[in-house]
Amino acid sequence: MNFSTAAGTAAATVVLGSGISENIGSLFAYGADKIIVVDDGKLSAFNDELECNLLERLVGKYRPEIVLCAATSRGRALIPRLSSKLRAGLTADCTGLAIDPENGDLLQTRPAFGGNIMATIRSGEFRPQMATVRPKVMPTPDVMPGRTGEVIREKITATDTLNVKEIIKTVKRSEPTLNLSDAHIIAAGGRAMKGPDGFRLLERFANQIGAAVGASRAAVDNGWIAYPHQIGQTGATVQTDVYIACGISGQIQHLIGMQSCKTIIAIDIDDSTPMMNLADIAVKGDLFEIIPHLMKEIGNDKKNGAKS
Ligand SMILES: Cc1cc2nc3c(=O)[nH]c(=O)nc-3n(C[C@H](O)[C@H](O)[C@H](O)COP(=O)(O)OP(=O)(O)OC[C@H]3O[C@@H](n4cnc5c(N)ncnc54)[C@H](O)[C@@H]3O)c2cc1C
Repeated sequence: MNFSTAAGTAAATVVLGSGISENIGSLFAYGADKIIVVDDGKLSAFNDELECNLLERLVGKYRPEIVLCAATSRGRALIPRLSSKLRAGLTADCTGLAIDPENGDLLQTRPAFGGNIMATIRSGEFRPQMATVRPKVMPTPDVMPGRTGEVIREKITATDTLNVKEIIKTVKRSEPTLNLSDAHIIAAGGRAMKGPDGFRLLERFANQIGAAVGASRAAVDNGWIAYPHQIGQTGATVQTDVYIACGISGQIQHLIGMQSCKTIIAIDIDDSTPMMNLADIAVKGDLFEIIPHLMKEIGNDKKNGAKS
């Protein structure tokens, strides 16, 4: 869906930061009609108060119908603060957005009641209508090279900087972090892995095919694998080229985190599960037979490839 066309308004992207003006025009290729840019040294470190004051002023000036933001760590710090200042309400972590053709309202869909139902929320009379979406929950639209539009430059004013907070120092975390979002292939295991040994098997399989290891919450809650591997509503959201679900039934809370992956392969003894129905390739059978068999075949192929 072309969102701005459906809503009957232009789509503007707001870009805040320091030293960001170069290549700003490339954002038009992603669908922006206008780009509002604030390039200032004061924005080099994230400060939610300053950005909130600035955005509040920009919203007052440009009066958007809709404000959308990524539900990243920064977005989660910034946007609730802004919605509260604007007294606008906010639907966080939407999994679907649409425009009501009748009246142009933003229809904001997200899981509710612990993910047992999907609720579609309207903002009623309140404006702007505000929602956040976790990165990669929705497929990335096609890039439109050569598209252009209007670049509007705004400045920080004295009132924006009336903060109580000052960033004194930024310290980068030194230990390596698992970033599932960057993986091209994920092999994920669920309750059917039966324990840590099951995940060791999955790890060997993942290493062989160059994949990262993911998990369902059932596996994480059982203590078989650490939380950073969890995918879903309360874990990571991924959009990999290939997602291999091994013994994961595909409850909505898990699907939310991986349903935009390009090719989904599911292995399950039960072919009626939501994951098996969603999968592009559904393999019915016991994963403790199928994974070792696949590993053997891939190993043979590699050996044969090495000989020739
Ligand atoms: C508020 C809330 C948030 C949640 N957030 C998340 C989240 O972020 N991520 C998440 O994953 N879950 C989340 N959940 C939990 C979710 O509802 C499910 O309980 C969970 O995803 C189930 O995990 P599973 O698919 O591994 O287990 P199950 O549903 O038990 O599925 C196991 C599957 O393995 C198959 N199987 C069994 N043995 C074998 C075998 N030998 N070979 C092959 N297949 C086999 C079974 O047929 C079954 O389909 C959340 C729940 C709530 C209430």
